[in-house]
Amino acid sequence: MAHCNESYLNLQGSYLFAAVREKADKYKQVHPQAQIISLGIGDVTQPLAQAVITAMHKAVDEMGNMDTFRGYGPEQGYLFLRQAIAEHDFQARGVQIDPSEIFVSDGAKCDVGNIQEIFSASDIVAVTDPVYPVYVDSNVMAGRSGRFVHDSYEGIEYLPCYEECGFKAGLPSHDPQLIYLCSPNNPTGAALSKSDLTMWVRYAKQTGSVILFDAAYEAYITEDDVPHSIYEIDGAKEVAIEFRSYSKTAGFTGVRCGFCVVPHALMLETKKSGKVEANQLWDRRQCTKFNGVSYIVQRGAEAVYSEEGQGQIQDILSIYKKNARIILEGVEEAGLHASGGINSPYIWVTVPKGMTSWDFFDFLLHEAEIICTPGSGFGPCGEGYVRLTSFNTPELTEKAVDRMQKALARRREMKA
Ligand code: PLP
Repeated sequence: MAHCNESYLNLQGSYLFAAVREKADKYKQVHPQAQIISLGIGDVTQPLAQAVITAMHKAVDEMGNMDTFRGYGPEQGYLFLRQAIAEHDFQARGVQIDPSEIFVSDGAKCDVGNIQEIFSASDIVAVTDPVYPVYVDSNVMAGRSGRFVHDSYEGIEYLPCYEECGFKAGLPSHDPQLIYLCSPNNPTGAALSKSDLTMWVRYAKQTGSVILFDAAYEAYITEDDVPHSIYEIDGAKEVAIEFRSYSKTAGFTGVRCGFCVVPHALMLETKKSGKVEANQLWDRRQCTKFNGVSYIVQRGAEAVYSEEGQGQIQDILSIYKKNARIILEGVEEAGLHASGGINSPYIWVTVPKGMTSWDFFDFLLHEAEIICTPGSGFGPCGEGYVRLTSFNTPELTEKAVDRMQKALARRREMKA
């Protein structure tokens, strides 16, 4: 009989979203007329930009013609897309990234999980707390953790992010080899400034660690001091891999496309033969296990960078950015403390005194018919917070904020 990968047995069930769904379903059963509004899920609502649709239609037609049909594409992605990325995402910000350092994928979730395959199974991982759960679970699957005890995995270094430090993590104390950083952050919405990132790059250089930098929400940055890429920091190419996604940038959550940058300057230690390029290993991994993203999708992603595409995408992003402002201001007007929402589609709300994350989730569901995500599901330091997202429509977002304010006002009156 084959043996199971015992590491999988350490995994906790994906309790958070299942529990959210279960509670919402139960409420709907008892209140079938309820018009629940979700500010919980991190999925977009606006349709794709017309420039993307037009490019994908054209690509479909090419696939139906003998002269322009394409079969398997390059595993790393078509050069037309990798060149567009190098030019618009990096050169435009003064960063030189060669197309050979860019690997197009079917999204950042796969990349942030798969990338750890090129590192030693004994490398220690550090994550911020609260954290996007994929970083943790994928490393647990790979055997880089022990058991789950007291809300966290043994063997993984959790870097607490406290309110008094703007929900930014301090440097690790155990010198991990791999450090996941997400900026702008899911779930807290905090964004690392140039000086924050400089500190991390310096630390990685000093200790020989690698930063796995998730910039999936880069398109939501509004402040000048927040780098869009970690490579805007001198020396970062020697210590960092960057992940990007078209999901929240261009509404590709269902289309699936993203990319990661593995610079040639990033070297990994071998036991016997000196150093090896991380780029070489990732290229080998992708060529073996991945057959590329569909031509049609890559043409759609390329259209994101066209003048027309950029205009349309910025219009869509401005809807979500405005929603974020409405939520942030609305929550504060209702007397709660909130952060994020300025460089991010996520608003991180401090729950009223005396309540847990789940208590406040229940309150919002029952008193305002709103779904949020309890912060405790993102790690021990998420307790006492909930995450609201700006991805719903403007109409429903405004309605939700209004309901929330009224529910909190009723609560205050009852307590008075
Ligand atoms: N990284 C972060 C921090 C995310 O929040 C998400 C999606 O919610 C992803 C990556 C996944 O992106 P993709 O849709 O490209 O797989």
